[in-house]
Amino acid sequence: MALTRPAAVTDRFLERLVSRVPSTSGGTWKLTEVYTGEVLVELPQSTPADIEQAFATARAAQAEWSQWPLKKRLKVFKKFHSLVLKHNSTIVDLIQVESGKARRMAFEETLDIPMVAGYYIKRAPKVLAPKKHAGPVPMVSSSLETRQPKGVVGIIAPWNFPFATGISDAIPALIAGNGVVVKPDNKTALSPLYGIELLEQAGLPKGLFQVVCGEGPDVGPTLIDNANYVMFTGSTNTGRVIGERAGRNLIGACLELGGKNPMIVLPDANLDDVVKGALFGAFGNTGQICMHIERMYIHDTIYDDFKRRFVEATEALVVGAAYDFDPEVGSLVSVDHKDRVASHVEDAVAKGATVLTGGRELPEIGPAFYAPTILEGVTKEMLAGVGETFGPVVALHRYRTEDEAIALANDTDYGLNASVWGGDIDNAIRVGRRIHSGNVNINDILATAYASKGTPSGGVKQSGVGARHGDQGLLKYTDCQNVGILKKQVMGAPEGVPFEENVKQQIIGLRVMRKLGIR
Ligand code: NAD
Repeated sequence: MALTRPAAVTDRFLERLVSRVPSTSGGTWKLTEVYTGEVLVELPQSTPADIEQAFATARAAQAEWSQWPLKKRLKVFKKFHSLVLKHNSTIVDLIQVESGKARRMAFEETLDIPMVAGYYIKRAPKVLAPKKHAGPVPMVSSSLETRQPKGVVGIIAPWNFPFATGISDAIPALIAGNGVVVKPDNKTALSPLYGIELLEQAGLPKGLFQVVCGEGPDVGPTLIDNANYVMFTGSTNTGRVIGERAGRNLIGACLELGGKNPMIVLPDANLDDVVKGALFGAFGNTGQICMHIERMYIHDTIYDDFKRRFVEATEALVVGAAYDFDPEVGSLVSVDHKDRVASHVEDAVAKGATVLTGGRELPEIGPAFYAPTILEGVTKEMLAGVGETFGPVVALHRYRTEDEAIALANDTDYGLNASVWGGDIDNAIRVGRRIHSGNVNINDILATAYASKGTPSGGVKQSGVGARHGDQGLLKYTDCQNVGILKKQVMGAPEGVPFEENVKQQIIGLRVMRKLGIR
């Protein structure tokens, strides 16, 4: 049966969305429906001059927005929260047509926005409030820590969670009083464009949140050169390019990059839970989650049992192209990406790995589908053994001691996420804390850490610099202004007191203050 595009995704709606993208050159990019390969809309491509103009417009709007009381700014996000829930199915439709992911996953992606907005609506008044600190001389001096918005933040977003990374990261930036210019991936510009439309419906001043489109290397330099801060999510290679340019411009950057995430299954883990978790870890979002699992380390005593059950469960997964909630696994984002995933599997097999299940393309379902794949015997000589495959491909490994499992988990340049499963939770936490990773999930894959919006979430090693969420996720979009206040002129030697005497008094003063716990 031919696939029918969701009713909400009309040509008129798509034209309206893309009309927001500035393009004086008239150049366009063909944005396609992943399941069919058909062109959905011609996406305008922005020139450097368009990008400069977008920043100028956002900067003018930001001058006013930053003067709004925080309470008034937060009102916009309260309204936005309810609009995102009200228009949920349209957002899910857009995410699905542009990314090809399963509807279940597209729905889950939309939840990130109300969660982030809800968290900062509650938390921002406390975090952004001026804080009084003690000054150098008690009673007569103090310092006020105040927070100023950076100005206009440039956001560069990937295709794997286009709505979440395009909009969620903008929420704290805007709440802090900044303007935003976002550059989504060309493939997945539709859902962030709709997010901006909803924000404006919620009362966000027009012009404050701009979107520019184009290939990364064409748009990136002008975007970074005009931004006061850069929030980047994408691959480690691109992150390095962005970080270098931001460094040259002496602006801050948060870089959320790739992973090669391990899962350790301890001998006392509940295998029913582990198999369910492993399915999501390896194949959720068709393996295109930065925090998903590509390496599984299973204790020798349960390895064979786990392997049998995991292969069986994988073969029972419903893979499909449908705009309903039936399929459990959807498409990869593009034919190019499918070819890249296939090349990792072919390379592994050529070098001696075994395919336990999958290992093939699924053209009968759609042009970019690839079967959920489990490998055994993967080594570091293989592409799938070191680099991020970023597809529905996972390697199983057997281990005998906890130390061995931890050493194997840490044997990577990446450090984004790790998952540890065990019956004895304290022991599992102990193991998890020995893994060099910005996020660790105990008896879960990724959602528990990522959806705990109060704790900063970011990568270590080659997986990134900085974090999103928590106080840090808001404060990074601000500069601190330190206002020192001196009520009485007490600094330096008082009139008539010899300097030697003043030195003694200062030393005594510091000793006494330490003793009294003043400073
Ligand atoms: P990518 O680095 O190729 O592209 C990401 C974005 O950067 C896109 O918008 C792209 O157009 C842009 N870009 C590319 N080259 C650029 C340049 N020279 N200057 C400026 N912008 C440029 O990554 P991708 O393949 O789109 O996304 C997948 C990667 O993202 C994976 O490595 C995944 O792990 C990572 N990711 C990380 C997180 C996280 O939070 N750590 C979340 C999602 C995805």
